[in-house]
Amino acid sequence: MKGSKLISFDLDSTLVDPTYTTFVWEIGIPRLYAGKYNTSLSEATSLVKAEYQSIGDSALEWYDIKYWFEYFKLPGRWENLLEEHRDKIRPFPEVKEVIEDLVQHYELIVTSNAAREFVEVEIREAEIEDYFVRIFSATSDFRQVKKTPQVYEKICNIMGTKPSNAVHVGDHYEFDYVVPRSLGIEAYYLDRDGRRPKDSYTVKDLTEFANLIKNPKASVDSCQ
Ligand SMILES: [Mg+2]
Repeated sequence: MKGSKLISFDLDSTLVDPTYTTFVWEIGIPRLYAGKYNTSLSEATSLVKAEYQSIGDSALEWYDIKYWFEYFKLPGRWENLLEEHRDKIRPFPEVKEVIEDLVQHYELIVTSNAAREFVEVEIREAEIEDYFVRIFSATSDFRQVKKTPQVYEKICNIMGTKPSNAVHVGDHYEFDYVVPRSLGIEAYYLDRDGRRPKDSYTVKDLTEFANLIKNPKASVDSCQ
Protein backbone atom coordinates (compact mmCIF):
# COMPACT_ATOMS: atom_id res chain seq x y z
CA MET A 1 0.00 0.00 0.00
CA LYS A 2 1.23 3.47 -0.82
CA GLY A 3 2.11 5.96 1.92
CA SER A 4 -0.12 8.91 2.62
CA LYS A 5 2.31 11.40 1.14
CA LEU A 6 1.76 13.02 -2.21
CA ILE A 7 4.92 14.00 -4.06
CA SER A 8 4.79 16.84 -6.56
CA PHE A 9 7.56 17.57 -9.05
CA ASP A 10 8.21 20.70 -11.05
CA LEU A 11 8.90 19.82 -14.70
CA ASP A 12 11.32 22.13 -16.56
CA SER A 13 14.85 22.04 -15.12
CA THR A 14 13.66 19.56 -12.47
CA LEU A 15 12.59 16.42 -14.37
CA VAL A 16 13.43 17.54 -17.90
CA ASP A 17 16.42 19.47 -19.23
CA PRO A 18 15.29 22.96 -20.40
CA THR A 19 17.00 22.67 -23.83
CA TYR A 20 13.79 21.77 -25.63
CA THR A 21 11.59 24.63 -24.47
CA THR A 22 14.41 27.15 -24.97
CA PHE A 23 14.92 25.82 -28.49
CA VAL A 24 11.24 26.08 -29.44
CA TRP A 25 10.90 29.69 -28.23
CA GLU A 26 14.31 31.07 -29.15
CA ILE A 27 15.12 29.20 -32.37
CA GLY A 28 12.03 27.37 -33.64
CA ILE A 29 9.69 30.37 -33.72
CA PRO A 30 12.31 32.86 -35.04
CA ARG A 31 13.16 30.39 -37.84
CA LEU A 32 9.51 30.22 -38.93
CA TYR A 33 9.28 34.00 -38.71
CA ALA A 34 12.45 34.46 -40.82
CA GLY A 35 11.08 32.06 -43.45
CA LYS A 36 7.71 33.77 -43.65
CA TYR A 37 8.91 37.40 -43.72
CA ASN A 38 12.15 36.75 -45.57
CA THR A 39 14.44 38.21 -42.92
CA SER A 40 17.72 36.91 -41.52
CA LEU A 41 17.53 34.58 -38.56
CA SER A 42 19.29 37.07 -36.29
CA GLU A 43 16.89 39.84 -37.29
CA ALA A 44 13.91 37.53 -36.72
CA THR A 45 15.32 36.44 -33.35
CA SER A 46 15.65 40.00 -32.02
CA LEU A 47 12.24 40.96 -33.34
CA VAL A 48 10.49 37.91 -31.89
CA LYS A 49 12.23 38.29 -28.52
CA ALA A 50 11.27 41.99 -28.39
CA GLU A 51 7.64 40.98 -28.96
CA TYR A 52 7.86 38.38 -26.17
CA GLN A 53 9.26 41.08 -23.85
CA SER A 54 6.51 43.52 -24.73
CA ILE A 55 3.93 40.98 -23.52
CA GLY A 56 6.04 39.97 -20.51
CA ASP A 57 6.02 36.81 -18.42
CA SER A 58 3.23 37.99 -16.14
CA ALA A 59 0.73 37.65 -19.02
CA LEU A 60 -0.81 34.27 -19.87
CA GLU A 61 -0.07 34.89 -23.58
CA TRP A 62 3.69 34.66 -22.88
CA TYR A 63 3.26 30.91 -22.30
CA ASP A 64 0.77 30.29 -25.09
CA ILE A 65 2.29 29.00 -28.31
CA LYS A 66 -1.10 29.17 -30.09
CA TYR A 67 -1.22 32.88 -29.33
CA TRP A 68 2.25 33.46 -30.81
CA PHE A 69 1.50 31.46 -33.96
CA GLU A 70 -1.54 33.65 -34.57
CA TYR A 71 0.18 36.85 -33.55
CA PHE A 72 3.10 36.37 -35.96
CA LYS A 73 0.85 34.65 -38.53
CA LEU A 74 3.34 31.80 -38.74
CA PRO A 75 2.94 29.10 -41.37
CA GLY A 76 2.06 25.51 -40.40
CA ARG A 77 0.72 24.18 -37.15
CA TRP A 78 2.17 24.84 -33.70
CA GLU A 79 1.74 21.14 -32.95
CA ASN A 80 4.22 20.35 -35.70
CA LEU A 81 6.83 22.68 -34.24
CA LEU A 82 6.55 20.98 -30.85
CA GLU A 83 6.78 17.52 -32.44
CA GLU A 84 9.59 18.43 -34.82
CA HIS A 85 12.06 19.18 -32.03
CA ARG A 86 11.03 16.49 -29.61
CA ASP A 87 14.41 14.77 -29.97
CA LYS A 88 15.74 17.57 -27.73
CA ILE A 89 13.61 16.47 -24.78
CA ARG A 90 15.79 14.76 -22.20
CA PRO A 91 15.06 13.80 -18.63
CA PHE A 92 17.94 14.41 -16.21
CA PRO A 93 20.04 11.25 -15.80
CA GLU A 94 18.74 10.24 -12.36
CA VAL A 95 15.04 10.85 -13.08
CA LYS A 96 13.91 7.40 -14.27
CA GLU A 97 15.51 5.52 -11.41
CA VAL A 98 14.22 7.97 -8.78
CA ILE A 99 10.60 7.99 -9.92
CA GLU A 100 10.55 4.22 -10.51
CA ASP A 101 11.54 3.89 -6.88
CA LEU A 102 9.30 6.62 -5.39
CA VAL A 103 6.21 5.51 -7.31
CA GLN A 104 6.24 2.26 -5.36
CA HIS A 105 5.75 4.16 -2.11
CA TYR A 106 3.97 7.42 -2.93
CA GLU A 107 1.51 9.04 -5.31
CA LEU A 108 3.37 11.24 -7.77
CA ILE A 109 2.15 14.31 -9.63
CA VAL A 110 3.68 17.03 -11.81
CA THR A 111 3.06 20.73 -11.03
CA SER A 112 4.38 22.92 -13.83
CA ASN A 113 3.80 26.50 -14.90
CA ALA A 114 4.40 25.62 -18.55
CA ALA A 115 1.37 25.37 -20.83
CA ARG A 116 -0.22 21.95 -21.13
CA GLU A 117 0.87 21.57 -24.77
CA PHE A 118 4.53 21.64 -23.70
CA VAL A 119 4.04 19.61 -20.54
CA GLU A 120 2.37 16.75 -22.38
CA VAL A 121 4.97 16.47 -25.13
CA GLU A 122 7.83 16.68 -22.62
CA ILE A 123 6.46 14.04 -20.29
CA ARG A 124 5.60 11.68 -23.12
CA GLU A 125 8.97 12.00 -24.84
CA ALA A 126 10.88 11.69 -21.57
CA GLU A 127 8.95 8.39 -21.17
CA ILE A 128 7.80 9.20 -17.65
CA GLU A 129 4.05 9.71 -18.17
CA ASP A 130 2.96 6.40 -16.64
CA TYR A 131 4.40 7.26 -13.23
CA PHE A 132 2.20 10.29 -12.51
CA VAL A 133 -1.42 10.15 -11.37
CA ARG A 134 -2.07 13.78 -12.39
CA ILE A 135 -0.29 16.46 -14.34
CA PHE A 136 -1.10 20.07 -13.44
CA SER A 137 -0.31 23.16 -15.50
CA ALA A 138 -0.69 26.43 -13.57
CA THR A 139 -1.28 28.38 -16.78
CA SER A 140 -3.63 25.96 -18.55
CA ASP A 141 -5.53 24.56 -15.56
CA PHE A 142 -5.70 27.55 -13.21
CA ARG A 143 -5.02 30.56 -15.47
CA GLN A 144 -2.11 31.55 -13.22
CA VAL A 145 1.29 32.43 -14.66
CA LYS A 146 3.16 31.42 -11.52
CA LYS A 147 2.71 28.72 -8.94
CA THR A 148 0.86 30.92 -6.46
CA PRO A 149 -0.36 29.74 -3.04
CA GLN A 150 -3.83 29.33 -4.62
CA VAL A 151 -2.43 26.92 -7.21
CA TYR A 152 -0.91 24.68 -4.54
CA GLU A 153 -4.09 24.91 -2.43
CA LYS A 154 -6.27 23.90 -5.37
CA ILE A 155 -3.98 21.00 -6.20
CA CYS A 156 -4.09 19.74 -2.61
CA ASN A 157 -7.89 19.98 -2.69
CA ILE A 158 -8.19 18.17 -6.00
CA MET A 159 -5.84 15.44 -4.77
CA GLY A 160 -7.67 15.21 -1.42
CA THR A 161 -4.42 15.82 0.47
CA LYS A 162 -3.61 18.19 3.30
CA PRO A 163 -0.61 20.45 2.60
CA SER A 164 1.17 18.80 5.53
CA ASN A 165 0.97 15.47 3.68
CA ALA A 166 2.33 16.89 0.45
CA VAL A 167 5.91 17.23 -0.70
CA HIS A 168 7.09 19.40 -3.60
CA VAL A 169 10.46 19.74 -5.29
CA GLY A 170 11.61 22.15 -7.99
CA ASP A 171 14.36 24.47 -9.16
CA HIS A 172 12.68 27.88 -8.62
CA TYR A 173 13.54 29.16 -5.16
CA GLU A 174 10.39 31.25 -4.75
CA PHE A 175 7.71 29.32 -6.64
CA ASP A 176 8.91 25.80 -5.91
CA TYR A 177 10.20 26.34 -2.38
CA VAL A 178 9.13 29.52 -0.55
CA VAL A 179 5.50 29.52 -1.77
CA PRO A 180 4.66 25.84 -1.08
CA ARG A 181 6.51 25.97 2.26
CA SER A 182 4.38 28.99 3.30
CA LEU A 183 1.33 26.68 3.06
CA GLY A 184 2.93 23.94 5.14
CA ILE A 185 3.95 21.77 2.19
CA GLU A 186 7.24 19.96 2.76
CA ALA A 187 9.12 21.68 -0.08
CA TYR A 188 12.66 21.13 -1.27
CA TYR A 189 14.74 23.45 -3.41
CA LEU A 190 16.56 21.66 -6.22
CA ASP A 191 19.86 23.48 -6.67
CA ARG A 192 21.66 21.51 -9.37
CA ASP A 193 24.31 24.21 -9.84
CA GLY A 194 24.95 24.95 -6.17
CA ARG A 195 23.70 28.54 -6.40
CA ARG A 196 22.64 28.90 -2.78
CA PRO A 197 24.19 27.87 0.53
CA LYS A 198 23.28 24.28 1.34
CA ASP A 199 20.73 23.60 4.06
CA SER A 200 18.59 20.60 4.95
CA TYR A 201 15.89 21.56 2.39
CA THR A 202 18.27 22.05 -0.51
CA VAL A 203 19.10 19.10 -2.73
CA LYS A 204 21.63 18.87 -5.54
CA ASP A 205 19.71 16.25 -7.52
CA LEU A 206 16.62 14.07 -7.26
CA THR A 207 18.53 11.11 -5.87
CA GLU A 208 19.37 13.19 -2.82
CA PHE A 209 15.73 14.32 -2.66
CA ALA A 210 14.45 10.72 -2.74
CA ASN A 211 16.85 9.71 0.02
CA LEU A 212 15.61 12.55 2.22
CA ILE A 213 11.99 11.59 1.66
CA LYS A 214 12.53 7.91 2.28
CA ASN A 215 14.88 8.29 5.27
CA PRO A 216 13.94 11.52 7.07
CA LYS A 217 15.82 10.53 10.22
CA ALA A 218 19.05 9.76 8.33
CA SER A 219 18.87 13.08 6.51
CA VAL A 220 18.60 15.08 9.71
CA ASP A 221 21.55 13.18 11.20
CA SER A 222 23.66 13.68 8.08
CA CYS A 223 23.05 17.41 8.12
CA GLN A 224 24.26 17.82 11.68
MG1 LIG B 1 11.51 24.59 -13.22
